Amino acid sequence: MRASARFGKREEKILKKRNFPDLSPKIFSKISRSIRDFKMIEPGSRITLGLSGGKDSALLLAALAVLRGKSHVNFHLDACLVDITGGDTETGPMKDLCESLGVEFEVVPYPVLEILSTRDERSPCSFCANMRGGILFNHAKKKGATAVAMGHNLDDAVETALLNLFYAGSFRCFAPISWRSRTDLWLVRPLVYLPESSIAEEIRRLGVKTISPMCPFSRESKRTRIKKLVETLEKEIPDIRSQVLHALRGARIDDTWNMRSISLQGADRKC
Ligand code: SF4
Repeated sequence: MRASARFGKREEKILKKRNFPDLSPKIFSKISRSIRDFKMIEPGSRITLGLSGGKDSALLLAALAVLRGKSHVNFHLDACLVDITGGDTETGPMKDLCESLGVEFEVVPYPVLEILSTRDERSPCSFCANMRGGILFNHAKKKGATAVAMGHNLDDAVETALLNLFYAGSFRCFAPISWRSRTDLWLVRPLVYLPESSIAEEIRRLGVKTISPMCPFSRESKRTRIKKLVETLEKEIPDIRSQVLHALRGARIDDTWNMRSISLQGADRKC
């Protein structure tokens, strides 16, 4: 509690020196906290941010641009949008946002949707995410990045954990920071403490223009179902997302029915 109060003041000080954008201290504080908790950025880090055109990555871009400009930690930031239409997306709003923040912006066109239309993928979103990720990481590598930043938020983490629990029988989720050995790059997700609703509200308040999705595929039905389930449960358990986050952070092997842990615990028993 004491630590977060101290960090809140520090973030407010940084924001007082800002010129743009007018991020709310609460939002900025949560993003800064995840960056600190998981040591996502170090002096000299070179971050390539994956812009989708949506609200999450747009907010992340704004927050990292403020942090880069005002924090004592010196790091490089650029942004890349993988255009899954192969070049038909109107990327102007992201170009303008990057320009206003002084962030280098590049579009990499790739016909992911066309490729998807020729395949009978059971899970088009997984295929699309893998392909976009590969293109983004290769681009970042060429740019000399040390890390790729993505805009996954708290809702994404909760939905992924519950999807795995209900459909794959395991309680696991993507990590806030992970090492990608294929490209020798870190993947960081500084929005993991922020619920989607706060991000949407902040983007509205800031008046940031985003790009409407041009994808004919709806989001994976299982994920949509889990999203609706969480929204229903939220009526009875208002802090359901932070509870799942707490479980993810605090999971102890001793609390599971892991056979190795049970046999080690049982080693002291007399019978
Ligand atoms: S909804 Fe479309 S753009 Fe989004 S992950 Fe699925 S296929 Fe890709």
